[in-house]
Amino acid sequence: MKYTGPIYRPPYEAGSLLLQVTVGCAHNKCAFCTMYRETQFSTESIEQVEKDLKEARKIHKSIKRVFLVNGDAFVLGASRLKPIAEKIIEYFPEVEVITMYAHINNIKGKTDEELKELAKLRINDLWVGVETGHEEALKYLDKGFNLEEAKEQLKRLGDAGIRFIYGMMYGAAGRSKGIENALANAKLINETKPMGMAPTTLNPNPGTKLWDDVESGKFTLATEGEIFEEMKSLLKNIEVEGLQYLGRHAINTIPFDAILPRDKKKAIEVINATIDKVGEDYLNSVPKRHSI
Ligand code: SF4
Repeated sequence: MKYTGPIYRPPYEAGSLLLQVTVGCAHNKCAFCTMYRETQFSTESIEQVEKDLKEARKIHKSIKRVFLVNGDAFVLGASRLKPIAEKIIEYFPEVEVITMYAHINNIKGKTDEELKELAKLRINDLWVGVETGHEEALKYLDKGFNLEEAKEQLKRLGDAGIRFIYGMMYGAAGRSKGIENALANAKLINETKPMGMAPTTLNPNPGTKLWDDVESGKFTLATEGEIFEEMKSLLKNIEVEGLQYLGRHAINTIPFDAILPRDKKKAIEVINATIDKVGEDYLNSVPKRHSI
């Protein structure tokens, strides 16, 4: 298999075949992200994709799930994604889901008809990095879309039969705005009905706008106590039946999975028990997290 540049995938795709179709990230501008900062965006040829599939077929008896690498692979137009999906199905007819990271603008770049055609070709369960439903925070993070656009495009995905996982970050709105962020995220989640949500926690990395702003005092990070309150508020306000809470990311202080609203009470009890255990100093601190 040929892999170029750094490769990232959600922790939950550990069992998926990683097939590279793009290199880097076409957006590459988010205020907190260094993942592909040094990588020039490019696309992989269909010939190379087929070579990789041939090789994978020799190794794997059965592949049910394929994760298309890299940062926003859904940026490929439908005319590029369709032959890739067809080749995957040709080599792995048993495949159930072809998934990848998607940016809101990648959805905007496809017609409703194209989205439906991609869904028929088993493209589904997209990991969409929305990060926050808080308008001001969204703008600060340089995501490249506004709240209205996020809502509209996520609804279009649902209408086309494409499930998605709502990627978000605790602390995205900064100090004293955790509850606002929680309510804004809950509202957007309730309105767009993802199959799951994958929370991480905002963390400054050297070489980013966020890092510089934290250093200069322009952006103040949320304390750990605020993050815990934000988590509880978000959990309390989510109303989507059967939503998968996919929080087992190493950057989260309390990593756990849950099905909402079924596990809401239990999850809040776990957070409260942690608050009781860690003590005031920790709650008032901003712990160092390792980068994503
Ligand atoms: S967060 Fe995602 S969309 Fe933003 S720059 Fe990083 S990889 Fe690209």
